[in-house]
Amino acid sequence: MSKEMEFDANEEKLKTLRVSSLDEEEDDNEAQVDEIDDPDLSTDEDEEGEVHPVTLGFVEKLKNKWSLLRHYFPSKAGGTPAWLDPINLPSEKSSLCDFCSEPLQFLLQVYGPLTEESTFHHESTFHRALFVFMCPSMACLLRDQHEQWKRHPEKPCRSVKVFRCQLPQTNSFYSGKPPSEDGTEQPLTAGAKLCNWCGTWKGDKVCSSCRKARYCSGKHQAAHWRSGHRLACTRLQTSLEMSESAASNSLWPQYEITIEDECEFENEMSDSEYSNILVSGNRVDESVRSLMDDFAGDDDKRSWASFQERISRAPEQVLRYCRSAKAKALWPVHSGRPSRSDIPACNYCGGTRCFEFQVLPQLLYYFGVQNDVDSLDWATIVVYTCEASCKGDEGYKEEFAWVQLVSQSAP
Ligand SMILES: [Zn+2]
Ligand SMILES: [Zn+2]
Ligand SMILES: [Zn+2]
Ligand SMILES: [Zn+2]
Repeated sequence: MSKEMEFDANEEKLKTLRVSSLDEEEDDNEAQVDEIDDPDLSTDEDEEGEVHPVTLGFVEKLKNKWSLLRHYFPSKAGGTPAWLDPINLPSEKSSLCDFCSEPLQFLLQVYGPLTEESTFHHESTFHRALFVFMCPSMACLLRDQHEQWKRHPEKPCRSVKVFRCQLPQTNSFYSGKPPSEDGTEQPLTAGAKLCNWCGTWKGDKVCSSCRKARYCSGKHQAAHWRSGHRLACTRLQTSLEMSESAASNSLWPQYEITIEDECEFENEMSDSEYSNILVSGNRVDESVRSLMDDFAGDDDKRSWASFQERISRAPEQVLRYCRSAKAKALWPVHSGRPSRSDIPACNYCGGTRCFEFQVLPQLLYYFGVQNDVDSLDWATIVVYTCEASCKGDEGYKEEFAWVQLVSQSAP
């Protein structure tokens, strides 16, 4: 089996392990391990035993049409972004995969205002949202892995990008009051015209025949043309307005992200639920074992067991959020974690970046991403953001994502 094949076989197993095997722990108390020791944040500060409460994110089907609109300040996954600043969107250059030059696809956004007096610029972070995009090509993500390990490259090449946007309470886009809960709220201003294909990025390019269809890129114009605009274009020249929704059928399905505190899940499972998981756990037991065998060292095995134990408290979580200077990511694999110096300083203020949240591979299951050989997959995507959440003129500031794949090792 080639190296690449092995890699994908492991990925395959990971997905079947979504509902984790609690029986490992039951049979073998030695599997009980300490929280992994994260080298990037624990070396110079003694914080062992300190608990940072984690908020978990889950995906839910939409309950209504309006709650994911930008003026309701949603956290959401899939579909199109609800841009917080609807005008000053990221530049065309930042919207592209740096490897294949295709426009990036919207993965999720997290609404995370910082309103405590103690935070640096709490007036400017009354509204605050983080947006994660990625190229759906696994080949690009593998290339991204190599780039990720280059410390502070002149021109970083990424297929995963994160943007931070923040606004004060008084701003020209939204009312200063909380939105009404009946769906009647309207934004104060219209947003920038978006690409008719992806509904994601700014549509600065206009179709030269109908002068109505707008695109973020030549690639999306071509895709729309092939999928039907060729016929619709002539009709549009005389009458119809363009539909506002994205024409692309390759966007990930849209969900609302709801949150719960992780502590709510401790000891919550009843005995019968527990034994159900044990039963289904037996089936995957073999693959757990062979997956564990594939890991190079004991550290990876321990790390994986510890990760599984923690995730099993709420196996459907897709997101773990904890914005605190000392918060750490929960790493599935021991190797392939960044050290503190692998996380670049903020591009805008030069300050430290700290952990804010991580995305789990469960999201791929909800997105219906296949377990094919070259399908997109990851162990976790960890997002680091400017600790000061610095203000500045840009509508969207690029932050930093660290991607861990299942069977990667440090170079
Ligand atoms: Zn790409
Ligand atoms: Zn587009
Ligand atoms: Zn046209
Ligand atoms: Zn900064």
